[in-house]
Amino acid sequence: MSLPDVVIIGGGVIGCAAGYELACAGMKVTVVERDGIASHASGYSYGGLYPTWGAGIPGPVLEPAKQALDLHIELYPRLKAETGIDFELRQVESIALAADEAGLPALQKDCDWQISQGFDAETLSSRDVYGMEPSLAPGLAGGLLQRTHYELDSYKFTSALARGIEKHGGNIVRADVMALAGSRDCVTGVKTRTGSVMSGGAVVMATGPWAGSTPEAAPARESSALPLPSLPVKAVKGEILRMRLPGMDFHHRCGMYGRNVGRKPDGLVWIGTTEVVDNFDEQTTAEGRDFIFSGALKYAPKLADAELVQQTACLRPVAVDGLPIVGPLGSVEGLFAAVAAGKKGVLLSLVMAKWTSALVLGKRDAWPLPPELSTARFGL
Ligand SMILES: Cc1cc2nc3c(=O)[nH]c(=O)nc-3n(C[C@H](O)[C@H](O)[C@H](O)COP(=O)(O)OP(=O)(O)OC[C@H]3O[C@@H](n4cnc5c(N)ncnc54)[C@H](O)[C@@H]3O)c2cc1C
Repeated sequence: MSLPDVVIIGGGVIGCAAGYELACAGMKVTVVERDGIASHASGYSYGGLYPTWGAGIPGPVLEPAKQALDLHIELYPRLKAETGIDFELRQVESIALAADEAGLPALQKDCDWQISQGFDAETLSSRDVYGMEPSLAPGLAGGLLQRTHYELDSYKFTSALARGIEKHGGNIVRADVMALAGSRDCVTGVKTRTGSVMSGGAVVMATGPWAGSTPEAAPARESSALPLPSLPVKAVKGEILRMRLPGMDFHHRCGMYGRNVGRKPDGLVWIGTTEVVDNFDEQTTAEGRDFIFSGALKYAPKLADAELVQQTACLRPVAVDGLPIVGPLGSVEGLFAAVAAGKKGVLLSLVMAKWTSALVLGKRDAWPLPPELSTARFGL
């Protein structure tokens, strides 16, 4: 059987993961990216693979999140060997902290739930917490230790997926997609800002937060061009601080008051984050820096000695109901979406890639897509 080519719009982690999966299945893949591979959220995320919490957990995202973590652990040695890029996947220990006794029942409840789901978790006494992270502020009542947590470098991971696509015969092309080529019934490729057409029997929209904005100059008047659909996705900005702090603190990722502090393999302590619906602004802000730092300082006073090395900002793609959007788009044959992974795009990338590949290849049963995450729920 000869497989059609596939064009993927967007070179973030979702587009590259879908492209890698399809390229491994024997398809000729072209990823079209206007700015650069991993040049937005996929290159500046925290890189956490935490299946224990998030939108749709507990709920329809729980099982996919577990599957995704297994896929990451399985893929890591293979993709590293295939591409020569070590994206530093590793297990981490996270501690959710309780400021006082009133916070302990919620941690116990979360712990019981995590264990019932097969996650490795245990509650910690105050003494345990200080034994693990001695420099934390005095007076903490305890914590929840979570071991089914992994992290990776999401810039290197996305780059490895892109290189893997090329190794399997695919292409990465720098261009701004303005419209779809084809008719109202059937897509035949994409049209770029310069007017060139890239042909494909299937097109996957993996345009992250920009899935919610149709390009301004879509040449919809041409009969052979269709505007890119506008999906119910918004951009939610998040900022992260990377700080130099000599010593051994924060080898466990600690979290409280919505701020998380953890040491990365680069030796820096990363602290996140903010959540601001801010159109498509990707600039860092003094307000973001102060919000993150002041919140973390309340439980991690040692950070007063730290030096700010880098501050980053990027945009999460978030659907109106907070859940990923995957599946065919309308009655246009050959057009698919894989967007809106929200705070979990790095984790969910590999399972979203499995669903997308199964749909493109016409093998839905190989990786059944939960209906709650399907394009169909919005009537798309
Ligand atoms: C501060 C922060 C921390 C995060 N931490 C984590 C974490 O710990 N764990 C986790 O799993 N997730 C995390 N995330 C979420 C994760 O980063 C995102 O869900 C994920 O990167 C989204 O990937 P994407 O490929 O959908 O979008 P993007 O990375 O935004 O990629 C979309 C790409 O499409 C391109 N594009 C758009 N339109 C066009 C067009 N018309 N033509 C050509 N190219 C186009 C863009 O240039 C862009 O490169 C975090 C996010 C933020 C903001």
